[in-house]
Amino acid sequence: MDAVALRLDDVGAASKQHEVYGITRIPFGPVTLPFPGNVLFLKYMPPIKRWAPYAELTAAQWEEILTALAAAGARLTVAVTAGWVERDGRVVPFPVKFPDQARALRGGRERGLLEIANHGYTHCVLEDGLFRPRLFSGNRPYHREFYDWLPEDVHREHLRAAQDILGSWFGVTIETLVPPGNVLSAKTVRSAPAVGIRFISRAGGAPGGETAGVTFVDDTRVVPFHDRDLVRRGMRFLSGQLTAHAGATFVTLSELGRRQAAGR
Ligand SMILES: [Zn+2]
Repeated sequence: MDAVALRLDDVGAASKQHEVYGITRIPFGPVTLPFPGNVLFLKYMPPIKRWAPYAELTAAQWEEILTALAAAGARLTVAVTAGWVERDGRVVPFPVKFPDQARALRGGRERGLLEIANHGYTHCVLEDGLFRPRLFSGNRPYHREFYDWLPEDVHREHLRAAQDILGSWFGVTIETLVPPGNVLSAKTVRSAPAVGIRFISRAGGAPGGETAGVTFVDDTRVVPFHDRDLVRRGMRFLSGQLTAHAGATFVTLSELGRRQAAGR
């Protein structure tokens, strides 16, 4: 039986508040025309708005997710961003910002239904307030965290801060990194083993070759989606994923990585 790993990204990520951009081209007959979708309020209005803002999943929604997973005999890896970035740039640990959700996730992990993965400390670039919505443009490029142009100690400190927050709340060492937006560099990978990360899940594999002690999980076996899919489309989105892969064994990312590292 084939093994697949379901992966839910963006839990606790403030990009759901701050990553605001609109459409900038609209189809018009055979051509597309420029459209000022990033100007002022337009980027907040559907159908112009493309990503944020949307709500964090509630503890009650998490209970529904856990019930659906248990009924299907499935497991889910939840990629949590460990710090919520407030508009003024303060970073609030996930369990402080969302205590009810954090308790629900902890329960799900203890029941063996969830693996918690590191989805960064901030999900965005903090320097110079680059993550904030702008008046006349979108800000999508700054809603990634591990850019190669950032100094190596930023990579290391963000990884460590996220590991500390998640590790102390969940009481286990977090072993899997899911870099926001699939963006990471050799600096991130080099910093990973020292903070306990053994597996990385990312479309596109390893930048600059493999690193000792780190396994890049085979992304053809990973089914990635976002909390946004559940918030907007409801629990039927999850049941759709579970039925689409009925017949497969649902494993966590770290289990997939462990099998891969052992050559199974
Ligand atoms: Zn993300």
